[in-house]
Amino acid sequence: MTSPGQEPSLFSRIAAREIPATIVAETDRIIAFEDIAPQAPVHVVITTRTQQYRNVVELAAEDPGLLAELVAVAAGIAAERSNGQFRLVFNTGQAAGQTVFHVHAHLLAQPGPGSPVGDDSLGEGSLAFR
Ligand code: AMP
Repeated sequence: MTSPGQEPSLFSRIAAREIPATIVAETDRIIAFEDIAPQAPVHVVITTRTQQYRNVVELAAEDPGLLAELVAVAAGIAAERSNGQFRLVFNTGQAAGQTVFHVHAHLLAQPGPGSPVGDDSLGEGSLAFR
């Protein structure tokens, strides 16, 4: 979702199906897809359909309900794909590793106990992210 005259961000183009991605969850206002360069066995990017917020600070200040919805979607994906325990990372600013200035969270987790890969432990440092 873009404003008039605004170039669509990478994530808006994924949401519009212009760039292929493995989409794992969608609501009216949120979309989640697998990260193309996973840093953990479960690594899902969760973003807003609107690209009007560049980072989580702007989103929290201007639409806290949408931030809460994003977190709820993350928790739902973690419950499905993992054991419900997870890290949620919002890189905020270039020096912090943010490369796409369209607010998004990284959901990082281990696969659930029933998964063929890994176990359900979430040991300290096991999900180091950048
Ligand atoms: P950040 O560095 O926090 O801005 O996160 C941007 C994330 O987008 C990185 O983890 C990238 O691996 C991921 N990414 C970039 N292009 C794609 C794509 N086409 N499909 C899925 N994830 C992507």
